[in-house]
Amino acid sequence: MSQDSIQVDNLYEEGEQWVQNLGEKTVHAKRMKGKFRLIKWLGTLVWLPFFIGPYVSWNGRQAILFDIEKRQYHLFDITIFPQDLWMLTMVLLFLAILLAAMTTVLGRVFCGYFCFQTVWTDMFTKVEEYFEGAPTKRRKLEVAPWDLTKIRIKISKHVVWLAIAFLSGVTWMLYFGVSWFDYFDGSASGTTLTITAVISLGAYTFAGHMREQTCLWVCPYARIQGAMVDKQTIMPTYDYYRGEDRAKLKKGQYVEGQGDCIDCHQCVAVCPTGVDIRRGQEYGCITCGLCIDACDSVMDKVGKPKGLIRYASLDELEFSKNFVALYKRPRVIVYSAILLMALSTLSYGLFNIAPMDLKVLHDRQPLFVQLSDGSIRNKYELKIMNKTDQPMLVDVNFKSAIGNLKSKKEIKSVTIPSGNVKSIYVYLTAFESDVADDNDVVFTVSSDDVTLKYQSSFFTPKSMR
Ligand code: SF4
Ligand code: SF4
Repeated sequence: MSQDSIQVDNLYEEGEQWVQNLGEKTVHAKRMKGKFRLIKWLGTLVWLPFFIGPYVSWNGRQAILFDIEKRQYHLFDITIFPQDLWMLTMVLLFLAILLAAMTTVLGRVFCGYFCFQTVWTDMFTKVEEYFEGAPTKRRKLEVAPWDLTKIRIKISKHVVWLAIAFLSGVTWMLYFGVSWFDYFDGSASGTTLTITAVISLGAYTFAGHMREQTCLWVCPYARIQGAMVDKQTIMPTYDYYRGEDRAKLKKGQYVEGQGDCIDCHQCVAVCPTGVDIRRGQEYGCITCGLCIDACDSVMDKVGKPKGLIRYASLDELEFSKNFVALYKRPRVIVYSAILLMALSTLSYGLFNIAPMDLKVLHDRQPLFVQLSDGSIRNKYELKIMNKTDQPMLVDVNFKSAIGNLKSKKEIKSVTIPSGNVKSIYVYLTAFESDVADDNDVVFTVSSDDVTLKYQSSFFTPKSMR
């Protein structure tokens, strides 16, 4: 097929120079089928669990639930309490380094395929296309005078946009124990309504109205990615040496010295951020690969090899250097080491969360008291936390090398409600003459599933000398 059959449909009109879109014009990217378009749709599916997650039950309760009121975070069988929130640090570290590692190897691949901003924008523009048609029609509608048809189309689009935005806001809140009924029977709190409104309006504004402008001007990641990529980073790249000098080409025409780029602008027309990749790598490029699909289909039509735009590193393109194995790249090695460390710590933490926590606080004011019979008494506060979602029966004991160390009262078993901390006060008494060098006291608490020990000390006037 010839270039005659290729429709020129781009951000700017024939003859107009390409300029960085600063938001004056809405980018109406054309949708074309292709390998990377398919990958982008599959990337979108990563967000499907977000919408399904709140409806999944596990052992009689919501499988993923952030119960702020009870300060318990449930992840299937695992219950995390604020004491274990250090793991959140590990999760954040892991995600941050994973993002850096991905950027080093494949540029902004996260932005292109998985980022909620680009995924939501993709959904919103799909809705726009459904109501308003292909990019050319949308541009015409934008400048058309307001009549009943235009009002009907615009209202329909915005209603669906708002519905998606509201669904996103409510879904987020469902993870925090809010239910759909709360919104309709008036029991949702002011905080719930405010957060839902902020998230919904955020989705509506960023994905519906600002779109690529969010990626260009709001997202901090776009600004720092330059520090993470190098000449070996693989990104969608225009093969300048093969493509230039670019020029229009007529059916069956051959021009000596002309490159393979036929200047059809299809790569710009499909770009969701309005980038002309032929100008070199731009920070607006989210490496979605859609321009590769577009150019490959053009190359097919004009009978030239695919890959004028392709995933390639600058080293490969400019110096014909081979791909450097990942294990030989210092950045990748460092990122991988940190990722491994964060993942190992996290796995260890997740699989070793004790169902109970024990802290023993020795009373400091005073450290001990002398009773009328001359014996010495120490006071301890045992704080026992039940980190399961069932009440827990706990036995408390102590052991010490100190002879005749006695408790004022018999220490009984206690039942601790789920997610609660119970304080037990223990008063131990001994004569100073019975306390040798070893003044350790080891408290033991045990339930059906776990036994915990905590070492404390027994103080006497002698210990202070
Ligand atoms: S790079 Fe490919 S899609 Fe872009 S203008 Fe040239 S031929 Fe057309
Ligand atoms: S230039 Fe190509 S890879 Fe980059 S954002 Fe545009 S379409 Fe995606």
